Amino acid sequence: MRKRLVEFRNVSFRYGDEQPWVLKNCSFVIYENESVAIIGHNGSGKSTIAKLMNGLLFPQEGEIIINGQHVNNETVWEVRKDVGMVFQNPDNQFVGTTVQDDVAFGMENRGIPRAEMANRIDDTLTAVGMQQHRMTEPHKLSGGQKQRVAIAGVLAIFPSVLIMDEATAMLDPKGRKEIMQTVSDVQKERHLSLITITHDLEEVVQTERVIVMNEGEVWDESTPRGIFAKKEKLQRIGLDVPFVATLSDELRKAGVPIENEPLN
Ligand code: ADP
Repeated sequence: MRKRLVEFRNVSFRYGDEQPWVLKNCSFVIYENESVAIIGHNGSGKSTIAKLMNGLLFPQEGEIIINGQHVNNETVWEVRKDVGMVFQNPDNQFVGTTVQDDVAFGMENRGIPRAEMANRIDDTLTAVGMQQHRMTEPHKLSGGQKQRVAIAGVLAIFPSVLIMDEATAMLDPKGRKEIMQTVSDVQKERHLSLITITHDLEEVVQTERVIVMNEGEVWDESTPRGIFAKKEKLQRIGLDVPFVATLSDELRKAGVPIENEPLN
């Protein structure tokens, strides 16, 4: 049986006693070695879910279990070793004066021995294609390169779960595609659970499963193909089905064989 790495049990959350509930009775499971997208229009609660997953926030109701541990004040540091997060703006994630310093930073915080750190810097920068930039100052890198370094820094902690929270939103389409490919390769190689949080349905095409959020509730859960089949319903909650999915659907209906199926 596949191991449950992330579990939300009837989770409700609000940002204060007088505030409206932004998550309402949310339940879902993400398994090890699985690539899952969490989608929804702006304000539907996606980033709040990400912050709950690594203990930046705690729910008022329900339970969150990460790799067998209930997330609470006592377990939060253990949980953060397991859950790596990459955010939208890479400039907010840099602290070091060189790329390698930057990758080292998260490891220093966790007391990883120097020799081991050097190995991990090598491995992770190679995995994201940034080894030749090891001594570069981060501000000299392009947006896509900065995100690669941010991903390396997270991978160096050896998380079981990697969360990409709108992490490609500031990149051009080419850069976005390249990063998604790199992350997908790393996910397979390291058997990570990859959670892609996005409002852009193009990004769900390569995932195995999609969780759709709407106004703080889990609205649907299916394969990309199952989700895209609900085109009209998705449009009603502010989500547009990407051209590639519409096209492959039309071709299939017309009986045209498709050589490389774009969808799971
Ligand atoms: P998404 O990531 O899907 O855009 P968020 O999780 O960021 O959604 O936001 C969900 C809701 O919570 C929104 O209505 C947003 O305005 C509200 N919210 C987010 N952060 C805060 C905060 N720090 N304080 C109060 N409300 C917040």
